[in-house]
Parts: sequence; structure tokens; C-alpha cells
Amino acid sequence: KFIVIEGLEGAGKTTAINAVTHILIKKNITELVYTREPGGTAIAEALRTIIKKGLNDEPLTDKAELLMFYAARIQLIENVIKPALQANKWVIGDRHDLSTQAYQGGGRQIDPQFLSMLREGVLAGFKPDLTIYMDISPELGLQRARSRGALDRIEQESLPFFERIRARYLELARRDKSIITIDASQSLEHVTHDLQHVLNLWLHS
Ligand code: C5P
Ligand code: MG
Repeated sequence: KFIVIEGLEGAGKTTAINAVTHILIKKNITELVYTREPGGTAIAEALRTIIKKGLNDEPLTDKAELLMFYAARIQLIENVIKPALQANKWVIGDRHDLSTQAYQGGGRQIDPQFLSMLREGVLAGFKPDLTIYMDISPELGLQRARSRGALDRIEQESLPFFERIRARYLELARRDKSIITIDASQSLEHVTHDLQHVLNLWLHS
């Protein structure tokens, strides 16, 4: 199975991945493979660095950024995710295509028809079995992310940019039954409890 954790900066994706790991291991699911996007292969990690840091102050156009995300993603799918799934391992993803729908579609307002054409052409229907969306307000998330110095190129973006991303995440989560939303503004204890609940329901369904 392929489980993806999604959310804005500072939503607590890493914490959620640790909690999910814990729950799966208790169920004797121990052959786990971890991915992060963009990244996870040599080429995808090189693209990640360019996407996150830029290169020589060259302006990165929205479309070039989008294509790099898909280049990185398909490298990861074909070289890491599909082989792991074929070997009956479980894959836990730190971000996947929903990030692109939210950030490039919602945040950067890429033309929806172009985006869906690209998505279908590249992914050909490949999708996670379960996506857990950690929902947090940009104010709180950015505050958390800044306090650990975790922001790069995206730091220059304004609050409305992150509000659009969150709105798109919430909209897509409402429309797709394989995406489950968790209130990530709660205490760690409550978030962990909700994750346990969601995952147990899903594992037994
Ligand atoms: O480690 P993290 O997932 O936070 O780093 C990915 C970076 O790339 C973040 O700054 C995130 O906002 C950005 N990103 C993006 N569009 C995506 C996925 C990630 O701008 N589709
Ligand atoms: Mg993280």
C-alpha cells in the first residue's frame, strides 16, 4: 500500500509519519519504504535543490517549476515506489501529487486544463491508496516552520498564496474519499489520537 502525508509547511508531516510508522509496526506491517517529494532519487534530489534554493538567481518560471515537480515525481514512482509496492512493501510518502494540485494549482494558479493534462499524461492514473491531509492555518504553520528555519524559496510568498493552497487542499479532500483531513492545529496528543483512529478504520475497511 501507498500512504501519503500532506499539508502546508509546519503542519507536522514528519510527526505524522512517525505516528503512522508506529501504528503500522504494531500491526506487524514492518517492511516500510519512506519517500519525500520532491526527491528520493538522485535526479529527483537534484531537482529538489533547484526547486527549493533556486540556481544563480535565475528566475524560475511557474511552468518550469511545475515540470520539475513532475519530472522528479515520475522518477520516484518508476524507480522507487512501484518496485517497492511490487515487492509487497508499504510506502509512506512525505508529499505526493496532491501537493502539486494545491501549490501549483491553488497557490500559483496554473491553468487547470494544462495541469490536469500534465497530471494524466505523467501519472497515468497512479495514485496513493490513502492520503492523510494535515490541515493547519498558514499563520500557525508558518510560525512553526520559521521557528525551525525550515523555509526556503517559498518563504518569499505572501499569506494569500498559502491561503489559496489550504483552500485547494480542503476542496480536494472533500471531493476524494481516499483523502482524510486531520486537524493539525491540535496538541500532539490529539493529533496522534486522530491519526490512530483514522488509520485503524482504514486498515479494517
Ligand atoms: O520538506 P518540505 O516538504 O517542506 O519541502 C518542500 C518545499 O517545496 C516546501 O517549501 C513546499 O512548500 C514546496 N513545495 C511546492 N510545491 C509542491 C511541493 C512542495 O512549492 N508541489
Ligand atoms: Mg517535515
